[in-house]
Amino acid sequence: MSSSSYKAPRGTFDALPDQQPARRLVEDTANLLLERAGYARIETPIFEETSLFARGVGESTDIVSKQMFSFTDQGDRELTLRPEGTASVCRAYLEHGMQKWPQPVKLWYSGAFFRHERPQAGRYRQFHQIGAEAIGSDSPLVDAEMIVLLRDLIEALGIEDARLRLGSLGSIESRAAYLDELREYLRSHESDLSDEVKGRIDSNPLRAFDADHEGTAKVMAEAPTMLDRLDAEDSAHFEAVKGVLDDLGVSYDLDPGLVRGLDYYTRTVFEFTCESLGAQSGVGGGGRYDGLIEQLGGKPTPAVGWAAGIERLTLAMPEVPQGARTRVFVASDDSNRQRAMHLVTDLRRAGIPADLDLAGRAMKGQMKQADRLGAASCVILDAETDPVIRNMENGEQESVPFESVVEKLIAELA
Ligand code: AMP
Repeated sequence: MSSSSYKAPRGTFDALPDQQPARRLVEDTANLLLERAGYARIETPIFEETSLFARGVGESTDIVSKQMFSFTDQGDRELTLRPEGTASVCRAYLEHGMQKWPQPVKLWYSGAFFRHERPQAGRYRQFHQIGAEAIGSDSPLVDAEMIVLLRDLIEALGIEDARLRLGSLGSIESRAAYLDELREYLRSHESDLSDEVKGRIDSNPLRAFDADHEGTAKVMAEAPTMLDRLDAEDSAHFEAVKGVLDDLGVSYDLDPGLVRGLDYYTRTVFEFTCESLGAQSGVGGGGRYDGLIEQLGGKPTPAVGWAAGIERLTLAMPEVPQGARTRVFVASDDSNRQRAMHLVTDLRRAGIPADLDLAGRAMKGQMKQADRLGAASCVILDAETDPVIRNMENGEQESVPFESVVEKLIAELA
């Protein structure tokens, strides 16, 4: 039990050793799949100028208005712990003149992000995301590539119940016109709506599509949708994205009410959800953000990206991989401790996970420790005799000259 009154800050957690294999698998798999598709890793600072997020993510979003960890540093700079990755990657794109690189510039990242949200299962104040961004192309092929890569990542991790929701938000202008139309529609049916939806008609009318309330659901079944209000170009773009996904056998549910918490999305938006995760069911999502680079001071530059939560992915994984196990344990009496260290070092250098007693246990206790660690073999260094190799599964023992122990174990464990 805890022997100190210090605790990790609310909404944060320690990722303990038993969680590391799953976390590492997520990152290694993402690395493999993304680099294979031409995405190169980028690391950006954990904090940025506050105005980057205010500008990039949008002042009206929950993230910027309520959830940022902001502070003033010793030089009176207004800084914020990054709540998401896209604004930083776009800042880096502009700062390093990546417009001159061959387009699109394809980047991926993995790291910690910070949002002051109400903590609950699967929702933290410091969490970790894998993300990918392709900047500099408006081709619907890139939207599809992104979606397929996230789906492949989810599948490679053994997650089978992920559902893809797909929508299009059109351009910023057509969306604004549509939202006005939707607000008007909701107002004309106000008496049938839940209080919660009523209270959000102005701030977030799209949320009405997500409501469980029966009366609201009935109203929303007849509501105008953004997908019916796309202009010809946006509509053709969306048809092309869907066409590629169909061709690749990627199934999706069209979701006219797909809401993402960031202002910068245009055209394609998507989200993967897993029912098994309960209330916080989103494992990853993203979309196109054709206006963001310009918003940050660059030339108009189309781009698309996604982010997926490492914690949510590991929670959704049906099987938790095992960490590296000690294969060989070297037990020794007091007069052989140094020889034991020598042997363990030789075994490790030969690539065999090996360990020894560092707690002064008696021989019997060391054998127990070997068992506890799940070692396949135990080497016993006792008195002046040759080492004995004990097979921990069947208990067979064999005496082997010291110089041959490593070679013998390599042959046995290979
Ligand atoms: P977003 O950047 O909001 O689009 O989120 C992308 C993904 O990051 C989500 O689908 C979640 O998997 C994960 N995520 C977002 N916020 C949190 C949080 N507070 N705690 C844990 N994971 C999160």
